[in-house]
Amino acid sequence: PPLPAAQVRSTFLDFFRDKHGHLLVPSSPVRPRGDPSLLFVNAGMNQFKPIFLGTADPRSEMASYHRVVNSQKCVRAGGKHNDLEDVGRDGYHHTFFEMLGNWSFGDYFKEEACQMAWTLLTEHYGIPANRLYVSYFGGDAALGLLADQETRDIWLDLGVPPARVLPFGLKDNFWEMGDTGPCGPCTEIHYDHVGGRDARTLVNMDSPDVVEIWNLVFIQYNREVDQSLRLLPRFSVDTGMGLERLTGVLQGRRSNYDTDLFTPLLHAIQQVRAGPYAGRTGTADEGQVDLAYRVVADHIRTLSVCIADVSVQSAGTCVMRILRRAVRFCIEVLKAPQGALASLVPTVTYMLGDVYPELSTEADRVSIMDIINENEAHFLSSLRQGSRLLQRTLSRRDYRDRLFPASVAWSLHRDLGFPLDLVDLMLAERGVQVDRQELDRLIAENQTEGSYCVSSRLMLDVLSLAALQRVGVPHTDDSLKYAYRLEDGR
Ligand code: ATP
Ligand code: MG
Ligand code: MG
Ligand code: MG
Repeated sequence: PPLPAAQVRSTFLDFFRDKHGHLLVPSSPVRPRGDPSLLFVNAGMNQFKPIFLGTADPRSEMASYHRVVNSQKCVRAGGKHNDLEDVGRDGYHHTFFEMLGNWSFGDYFKEEACQMAWTLLTEHYGIPANRLYVSYFGGDAALGLLADQETRDIWLDLGVPPARVLPFGLKDNFWEMGDTGPCGPCTEIHYDHVGGRDARTLVNMDSPDVVEIWNLVFIQYNREVDQSLRLLPRFSVDTGMGLERLTGVLQGRRSNYDTDLFTPLLHAIQQVRAGPYAGRTGTADEGQVDLAYRVVADHIRTLSVCIADVSVQSAGTCVMRILRRAVRFCIEVLKAPQGALASLVPTVTYMLGDVYPELSTEADRVSIMDIINENEAHFLSSLRQGSRLLQRTLSRRDYRDRLFPASVAWSLHRDLGFPLDLVDLMLAERGVQVDRQELDRLIAENQTEGSYCVSSRLMLDVLSLAALQRVGVPHTDDSLKYAYRLEDGR
């Protein structure tokens, strides 16, 4: 029988702790402490940044870390790492996921790291070696960086056939924390879900058949201010493997949603809507029920974790946006009643509470549900009021030759939180145009609130992509990207 996810997780932690002397460090909250450069924790290494940077207080516990293992709550829904676009469309990018990682701070390096990873995957988890591909840094002549032959040789010595040891460039196999700071080549392990073929061209192709499962980064340089690379006095290892993907591999599922990390949630969603989950993938149609199941299952995990750690208000617009997206999918696509979203929370806390104590108590569960319900009610009522105000204004006058009053558009936005883009689109649907000049003036006048930027971002919270297309927004992916660009530029 396939290994349950809880055992996939504990096997990893036990392997490094009990067999290889690593200290088990708890996950940090998803909101980074004292790091304004990050919206959310997006990798296990985030909490260890001071060690890599050499800024850890020598009296702190952290300063004594040599070998560490952990399972980190990660969110990639904003900022540099934003996977929101892929969620539900593919089966292996989530906004919230658990990253299993092991670290060496000036202790072991490449050889031991690869050896342990290979043993864990092939012997303890029993993954057939002939399904695995590994990549290494192939060098970059322009930047004067040599290929990481050392890592290549390590894999060959471990018995990986040369045809499955593949060189890639900077983008995939050289990891940098930022413009300056610790960095180095990495090696990634990929799994072929099909097998019995030569799939090397599919590695790093974003194919659902060959997925990246584990990234091992070898931190050996420091990127200096003048952009040169200086060898660090001590080398470190930083690895990360997605629990959901690994579980997919071990349970023989190409979609993570078909593993026991998600099936209880899909069942819970089925309780609140009429039709079942059919597991169809490969669609970009936001009206598709299966896609909505996946999005809602993904988003409710993210919401529960984010609210438990930070509360929705201080987590900011990004979490609010996920909440509204989830509400919209629940109500518009799944035809679930109001309150359905919050009713999924106990399933999440039941599944994650054992591992993450902040999700374990009755009080945690109740407060997460309350916050979701309040925000859902608020959002739905704004939507209703907004539509009514718009309707009323439109019915009072004939707008065939006239421009829609900017003051009403502005009030929809400011007083009811309606995205301005949405106002534009709703008007366009009715063949009406807003008084652009006057509206621009109002926007400029209120620029300090930064509200126009927010409105573009929120546009997709409330509108289905089909609605965007109906009124002629050129391409849905572009508009999504546009929204994300604004978000990143904040
Ligand atoms: P991908 O190329 O698939 O987007 P990545 O290269 O961005 O992954 P890393 O930053 O190397 O991922 O993170 C380490 C590991 O975390 C990955 O190998 C993968 O197993 C997992 N992971 C990354 N992003 C996600 C996500 N959005 N959802 C689930 N797991 C993820
Ligand atoms: Mg990625
Ligand atoms: Mg990758
Ligand atoms: Mg990677």
